[in-house]
Amino acid sequence: MILVTGGAGYIGSHAVLELLQAGHEVLVLDNLCNSSKVALDRVEHLAGRTVQFVKGDVRNRSLLNALFASYPIEAVLHFAGLKAVGESVREPLRYYETNVSGSIALCQAMAEAGIFKLVFSSSATVYGDSPRMPITENCPTGIPTNPYGQSKLMAENVLRGLAESDPRWSIALLRYFNPIGAHESGLIGEDPNGIPNNLLPYMLQVAIGRRKHLSVYGADYPTPDGTGVRDYIHVVDLAKGHLKALERLSLVHGVSTWNLGTGRGYSVRQMVTAFEEVIGRPLPHIYKARRPGDIAQCWSDTTKARDELGWEAKKGLLTMLTDAWRWQSRNPQGYGVDKAATATKKADTATETALAS
Ligand code: NAD
Ligand code: UDP
Repeated sequence: MILVTGGAGYIGSHAVLELLQAGHEVLVLDNLCNSSKVALDRVEHLAGRTVQFVKGDVRNRSLLNALFASYPIEAVLHFAGLKAVGESVREPLRYYETNVSGSIALCQAMAEAGIFKLVFSSSATVYGDSPRMPITENCPTGIPTNPYGQSKLMAENVLRGLAESDPRWSIALLRYFNPIGAHESGLIGEDPNGIPNNLLPYMLQVAIGRRKHLSVYGADYPTPDGTGVRDYIHVVDLAKGHLKALERLSLVHGVSTWNLGTGRGYSVRQMVTAFEEVIGRPLPHIYKARRPGDIAQCWSDTTKARDELGWEAKKGLLTMLTDAWRWQSRNPQGYGVDKAATATKKADTATETALAS
């Protein structure tokens, strides 16, 4: 059985579906602070199989101990974390506590239970403003400009030190580039709280009529058309990368770092044009000053993941945008009211209490 922390979230729910489809038993631990249990109901529907779910916090050591004692867990995919850059600037302690202390609590409980296989959700943000493109895994890590990025780099360093201290650990640090898109069914996808920070969720909400226009942050970058360039990757390709990493951890010890991207960069202007093609109409957008903390460009070298994991992203930009649009147009309010309703369900809290006591 695989424990998936944060498995009700955007990337986690797609990974849970891939795990179920590959025949794994799955236990999800999620406190639903940024997700809905409905996502997992839909995953079960798509897979035709059930997922064990416990509503609870990854920082709760006694709950973790109880989970490891109650379920035959062999490995952990650790997605649980907070990811909003702006919020991390306003509430740094909450970010360090969840993303760093949460990872420490998880590893402590895993070690106590004798489980040493861990796949960690890291980010290309750890490279900072890299002077080298494309970015390989041995490019030096940079100085992330916000507590979110710092917390990912800190967690990576904690995991690296841990693996160096004890040869039983096999840890994958997966550095995601820019995950977008949704499962082709249109049943699961990204459901951001409040005003989206990221480019594609914002474009989707403009297209659906929830926001007036997109603001393009900066047209004076040293890039071919002046707008920022990123390596967008389909969330299903990304999810599949986790299964490959998991397989690989059975063969290698210590820490392994893999970039998960496509190896191709697109500018904001290119994204807008491609998205307009998908929706069949113009997308209202205006040009604004650069967003503080943004870098000009960032795309991956994917050679290491291809050679060592036998994995590469298969889905192109139009598929990413078409799948994202299908999800958004079929679910204009995301998971909608169910998100809040599920989060307060008394039964879920009872599960956490019962397991932890
Ligand atoms: P998400 O917010 O949709 O998923 C995170 C999940 O973790 C949510 O379901 C949330 O409820 C849960 N969670 C948060 N704090 C928790 C806690 N203390 N205990 C238990 N559960 C908790 O985000 P996502 O986009 O699916 O990201 C998953 C992981 O990937 C995160 O660690 C994120 O930092 C990392 N990542 C995301 C991106 C991206 O662009 N989406 C890029 C790089 C890295
Ligand atoms: N971006 C933009 N308008 C938005 C959100 C993002 O122009 O409303 C730009 C941003 O400046 C960057 C690119 O889109 O060049 C991707 O931004 P996102 O926040 O999605 O990813 P990140 O910057 O974290 O890689």
